[in-house]
Amino acid sequence: MLFTIRDFTRLRQYSHIVWDIDRTITDENGALSEEVAAKIINLALNERVFHSFITGRDADWMKVKVIDRLIPFFKFNDVRGRLDFYGEVGSVIQRVSDDGTVTERFDSEIENHPLKMNANGVRDKLRALVYDPEKLESFNGRKLEAAEEVIYDANECGFVIDRTKHVAPICHPYIWATSKKAFATFEKIRNKEGYFNDFDQDPYAERLRSMITTEGFSDQVDIEVIGTAINIVPKLNGLKLGKSWATGKALMHIWEQKIGKNEISLDQVIAGTISAGDGRADLDFTKPMFPEAIARDLKRNRVDIIFVGGELDLPKVGSADYSLRENIIIQATGQGTLAVNARERRISWQDAMGARVISEVLDYLKMWGHFREF
Ligand SMILES: [Mg+2]
Repeated sequence: MLFTIRDFTRLRQYSHIVWDIDRTITDENGALSEEVAAKIINLALNERVFHSFITGRDADWMKVKVIDRLIPFFKFNDVRGRLDFYGEVGSVIQRVSDDGTVTERFDSEIENHPLKMNANGVRDKLRALVYDPEKLESFNGRKLEAAEEVIYDANECGFVIDRTKHVAPICHPYIWATSKKAFATFEKIRNKEGYFNDFDQDPYAERLRSMITTEGFSDQVDIEVIGTAINIVPKLNGLKLGKSWATGKALMHIWEQKIGKNEISLDQVIAGTISAGDGRADLDFTKPMFPEAIARDLKRNRVDIIFVGGELDLPKVGSADYSLRENIIIQATGQGTLAVNARERRISWQDAMGARVISEVLDYLKMWGHFREF
């Protein structure tokens, strides 16, 4: 088996799935798996299930890697109203309109946030700490001078730098992510093949943190060190914006805009929702955040999660969020399989994580009647 169900008694009927994207439902090319996409559309069409996709990636990435892959599917137009896309962890909301164009808007709480608005030059000051694509020459394949080299960002764009002519920025292993609009990101510099170095990010996080304090931005932003980057995250009411916040937004949207507040309670929407992810940050899907006045009246505020990451992606024993592991209802076993390629006379290892596991979990849940309309 590729997955285990940790507690059968907790299984419910689900009408809404909250999805992480990267490494949960993506294939080896880093885009939405077509096999999973077909099942997602089928569930929306036949079981009237809603889907909310929530990622830390930006709207451009979402459009290319996810939305554009869904649009060509049979009957996509009939289900597009059941699919919502939340980029930059809920700051940017994308939907597909009648004519197939993708519309984009900012969440109202983020719209005028100082980090997005560049208040007091916060964005300018941040980008001065790293390599800034706007101040570099785009690499067009020309012959390089001896002292020149090319650095790449996360979107495979190359830029020429000459270390003998310019002083390197304070956080020199990073480049500014131009496509982020509400967040700010220091992406690790990559090589031509898209690989980046593993190095201790703490010293850079420390420099960034002290700059944020000195400039008086601490009430507005916080930082988050992840494998590929350092994220500068907007703060709202003193809290760092994350997947709990985005899930609360997604649930409220379905309750208020899609179903209608008079039809069912928010408790029922929460009870009919399951989430899926592969990393520590995705466990935040399981404790959605709501405005105080609404949170007060909730009887239950927990969403279970299908976890398709590895043991190392989970909170460690003794950590503050260790208890979130209890919200895992279905988990990838991590048992891979051997794949035999007879033509090439080769046997290879296939990891049982991510989209491969999700695809089977969806089959199981559908076969046993765990999906239905709200
Ligand atoms: Mg992920």
